[in-house]
Amino acid sequence: MKKRKTIDSFFQQKEHTSASQDHSPSNIEVSIPSDQQFNKSPTIDIDVSSLEPDPALRTPIWKYPVNQMDEIRRAYIKMRPYQPIKKEYPPTNFGNQNRRFQSHWFKKFTWLEYSLVKNAAFCFPCFLFEYKHPRNPAFTIDGFKYWKRVNDGDRCTFLMHIGCNT
Ligand SMILES: [Zn+2]
Repeated sequence: MKKRKTIDSFFQQKEHTSASQDHSPSNIEVSIPSDQQFNKSPTIDIDVSSLEPDPALRTPIWKYPVNQMDEIRRAYIKMRPYQPIKKEYPPTNFGNQNRRFQSHWFKKFTWLEYSLVKNAAFCFPCFLFEYKHPRNPAFTIDGFKYWKRVNDGDRCTFLMHIGCNT
């Protein structure tokens, strides 16, 4: 009798924990009932509004269960690259000069994303198709903010990044 009581309270506790994680980025993993993982019909409803828009805060696609990855990818493609337009972005200091991210870069580099949280640039396709060991962590995990290297002729980091991926 005592044992059963312990198990019951364990489950109650677990339920409570998952409910309180409502706003965590990994919410999707938590909220989908586990019996659906074995359901072969591809009708998993991903709540797009629950997906994190800022590239610095997103859960990498490879961290989702395998059967959800395509759905998550489709949802993000629908959301388009995250390109928040601001008149002026925060400065980044290089020696004795300040450089800033420029919103017109979005027009030239349609795959480009900008994180307001990290004041750094990210790459949308790299995010969509990244695997566990990122080839380009600067554009998927760390974020790129060496603005001096943008539009620096052939050495432009954004141009070089496209080159690496085609
Ligand atoms: Zn990329």
